[in-house]
Amino acid sequence: MRVYNTLNRKVELIRSIHEKKIGFYACGPTVYFYAHIGNMRTYITQDILRRALIHEGYSVRHVMNITDVGHNVGDGDVGEDKVRMEAKAEHKGMDDIINFYTDKFFKEESILNIQRPEVVCKASEHINDMLELIERLDAGSYLYKASNGVYFDTSLSKKYGELAGTTFERMNKELKAGARVERPQGIRNITDFAVWRFAEHNEKDMVWDTRFGRGFPGWHIECSAMSMKYLGEQIDIHAGGVDHIPIHHTNELAQSEAATGKRFVRYWVHGEFMTVDGHKMSKSLRNIYTVDDIIKRGYLPMAYRYLCLTVHYRNMLNFTFEALEHSQKSLKSIYAIISRISALNDTGTVDKNLAEEIKTVRDSFFSCIEDDIDTPSALSKLHALASLAGRKNLSGAECSRILDVFLEFDEVLGLRFNMHLSSALPKEAKELIEKREDARRNKDFNTSDEIRTRLRKEFKISVEDTDQGTIWFSSID
Ligand SMILES: [Zn+2]
Repeated sequence: MRVYNTLNRKVELIRSIHEKKIGFYACGPTVYFYAHIGNMRTYITQDILRRALIHEGYSVRHVMNITDVGHNVGDGDVGEDKVRMEAKAEHKGMDDIINFYTDKFFKEESILNIQRPEVVCKASEHINDMLELIERLDAGSYLYKASNGVYFDTSLSKKYGELAGTTFERMNKELKAGARVERPQGIRNITDFAVWRFAEHNEKDMVWDTRFGRGFPGWHIECSAMSMKYLGEQIDIHAGGVDHIPIHHTNELAQSEAATGKRFVRYWVHGEFMTVDGHKMSKSLRNIYTVDDIIKRGYLPMAYRYLCLTVHYRNMLNFTFEALEHSQKSLKSIYAIISRISALNDTGTVDKNLAEEIKTVRDSFFSCIEDDIDTPSALSKLHALASLAGRKNLSGAECSRILDVFLEFDEVLGLRFNMHLSSALPKEAKELIEKREDARRNKDFNTSDEIRTRLRKEFKISVEDTDQGTIWFSSID
């Protein structure tokens, strides 16, 4: 398996620290608001990577943090804590905000069929781990006090900025030239960042009394401390969005390596941004969509997942409802084929050439995945398999071989193909669908409509007639 490593700026073969094991850390959400579909694209990418590694035979330990404190407005060190600010705005406690948006996040993840990481860790529950790491940095004389917190001196970091392809000097010069970054008093370098922020406004929630002062951790120290706790001082893969490269991941890397003297991460994997109708998502353009918005407009959440796979994770994805519609159509055609061939009985004879063709398609699909998770090319192999499934006179053995390959593809794609197997239907629902098809053939549309209503009411199944035949969707689709 090869991935593009941001640190070395090339596609590299994954060699894990421990044989057949992968330690995988992904920066999770800051739970102060709804995650939008652009955020979810990042988690879908990570899910595909995780599934691909598992398919390759790795045992993956995937750790994701939940940032419930310490992430400031503007991502820097002077803005207010995002969760605290939202709590004030909504006249609620920080806990209420955290619980509400964390639940919402995991509901959306499960709707999008994103597998839950082995470890999900909340920042506020790991303050001692962060303090231990801060102590280590202090013992190494990397820290100093400024007006609003305890800062890491980035001039002492050996290769500060290397992840972003730059240097300490260049970054400081550029930031100074821009002069738009507000920095607190008493800092030594513009790039320095707080590992501990002092409480300011008599805050009661989410502040801790420590020898570094009364306050709360910096956002970056959270990820360093929690990744070390659950994955050790060196990890195989660290993932996040491209927006994390210049500040959050650069700072995580600097302080982790300062504390341990070891390489922190072997492979940094970053997913590109998403635009909507060619524009950056923003509140003023009213173009921020959530998974709920997609469902409300009548789309399958899996159609969104499919749409994400049509663009390579390192390329910008421009979201439009037209593109979503197109993705949904393609996905439904696959569902219909799976439904149809899983219901077929032995009708034809075995064709040796076909077996060979199925194998070629299967192998080339996984070559695409292994090549830096090239999902757009993998999807073209998926459709190649679908066209093999469309051949006339397939034998039962051939159908079941093709089905096996569809399901193996779906171990990585996660598009819920198994929900569309004939065997996934309750017996009574299956009989009703067959009856309905008979009724339609006889142009008895009243009966066909009655059955459609019964399926919805009794089994929460909706049916749809396509060129490929009838497909069904249960409410979870
Ligand atoms: Zn992080």
